[in-house]
Amino acid sequence: MILQCISCSRTYSADAIRYTCECGNLLSVERATLGGSPALFDQRRASRRAIDQSGVWRFREAVLDIDERQIVTHPEGSTRLYERSGIFFKHEGENPTGSFKDRGMTVAVTQAVRLGATAIACASTGNTSASLAAYAAQAGLRALVFVPAGKVAAGKLAQTLAYGATCLAVRGDFDAAMALVREACDRLGIYLVNSINPFRIEGQKTIVWELLQDLEWNAPDWIVVPAGNLGNTSAFGKALIEAHAAGWIRTMPRIASIQASGANPFFRSFREGFAQRHRVTAETIASAIRIGDPVSYEKALTAIRATNGVVGEVTDDELMAAKGEIDRIGIGCEPASATTLAGVRKLGLTGRIVCILTGHVLKDPDAILKNVPQEQMIEIDPTIEAVERAVSASPRP
Ligand SMILES: *Cc1c(COP(=O)(O)O)cnc(C)c1O
Ligand SMILES: [Zn+2]
Repeated sequence: MILQCISCSRTYSADAIRYTCECGNLLSVERATLGGSPALFDQRRASRRAIDQSGVWRFREAVLDIDERQIVTHPEGSTRLYERSGIFFKHEGENPTGSFKDRGMTVAVTQAVRLGATAIACASTGNTSASLAAYAAQAGLRALVFVPAGKVAAGKLAQTLAYGATCLAVRGDFDAAMALVREACDRLGIYLVNSINPFRIEGQKTIVWELLQDLEWNAPDWIVVPAGNLGNTSAFGKALIEAHAAGWIRTMPRIASIQASGANPFFRSFREGFAQRHRVTAETIASAIRIGDPVSYEKALTAIRATNGVVGEVTDDELMAAKGEIDRIGIGCEPASATTLAGVRKLGLTGRIVCILTGHVLKDPDAILKNVPQEQMIEIDPTIEAVERAVSASPRP
């Protein structure tokens, strides 16, 4: 296991504390051969050990070379795959802190412990900070999170504070918080666990491997994922390339990476055949993907190319309508997650489709409470007549 630059191929020890190459580009965790096999992973599903029940560490040979006793696991993953109206939904909101970020965080925090770090930090639109705070608490590490002031959904901020992290509310947007945390980690010797950290990506690969396992290793046609900082798109590409090369699957699914139209730099690049990288000032109701300058652009480009993938964009109205559908079938998700279903519709995707629901419905209560239909939320006097009036006026399902 080594760290390798995705651009100039220079290599570094896996124990080096660095996130980028001397040339400035991103690093990737690489190994000579991919350990594990579908048969081994399937067998572990029957085990009661925490590291086998974890949907990340079940795949450990292909995630991190490690002494098993050092693993910091809740356990995470092992989320459900729902089939509704012919579409599969992999619900990553069912992770311990309510988003897929736990899959990357368990690996990054395990690596932090291995490297002897005493403090970890990230910039976050909310879910990474909640996850960081929970895993830092478990490992006994100091937790520092940088969030855009006033721009984090209530559920995420409350969790982060509850788990005991120090929260720096930066007067600026996510991209400003990201630049600041990189500088702060270098200056203060704190271990950075944003998705620029290549070990996060190793953990997030398991979203794809677990859904392939859920489908008995019969690959779907499409895997649809919301796209913000592009860590997940990158991880999905790496997971598919590795699984295909190792013979775990016979066909290569296509990735559809979906952005909000107010935060669409990756879509802009895709539309131009990736002629150039774009940066935008981001604005969307989907705060998890309100990101204008995604750090994993280069890796995500590889993911789209290697899987013959596509990038789409959907408006806030389209993603909120899709959220309404997902919520009302009793599954529910946060706004960013619903870009997947909205993207399926907008791009007209067909075949076997898996949408990744990245975050839990309770993460962003304000997005729900601001738009409650009048006939659904009715204040009444405490009389039976008022109840009867309300019931006859409100719609039946
Ligand atoms: C982080 C996050 C995303 C975006 O993932 P990236 O890896 O930043 O592209 C999407 N949805 C939710 C709920 C998230 O927390
Ligand atoms: Zn390099």
